Amino acid sequence: MKLYKIKKSNIDKNGRGLYATKNIKAGTKIIEYVGNIITKKQTEDSDKFDNSKPIYLFNLNKRYDLDGDVSWNTARLINHSCSNNCEYDGTGLKIWVVSSKEIKKDEELTCDYGFGFDSDFKQFPCACKSINCCGYIVRTESRWRINKKFKKNTRISR
Ligand SMILES: [Zn+2]
Repeated sequence: MKLYKIKKSNIDKNGRGLYATKNIKAGTKIIEYVGNIITKKQTEDSDKFDNSKPIYLFNLNKRYDLDGDVSWNTARLINHSCSNNCEYDGTGLKIWVVSSKEIKKDEELTCDYGFGFDSDFKQFPCACKSINCCGYIVRTESRWRINKKFKKNTRISR
């Protein structure tokens, strides 16, 4: 039995997500993140990855990237959450989605998309509604920048 099923997402209102079909222990390989292995040169030459935050593009090693933007990559449906319960775990040329904490049956599977903080962070609002949510899809280590920014704005508006 698969550990996941596809269902309408609670986070991405217009999209789908993956949900746990049973209780999952931390550290469990749930689904392989598959796609086309392409060279760095192909990544550079293609218009497809012009966006500075290509959601489905993974760095495998010095020479190769993985383009997961293909219909047969079910793991691409996993949404970002600021309180993610899964993480991407790469070994060699393979990437697995692994549970980073205990997941209850019927919980939506989520990852940290790992976007860095930069001037266009507002293009990617986050709707995860978790207690850690900073409002935007920004990796854990950079979220304080957004919180600081909010504080500064509050001060100005007073
Ligand atoms: Zn969030």
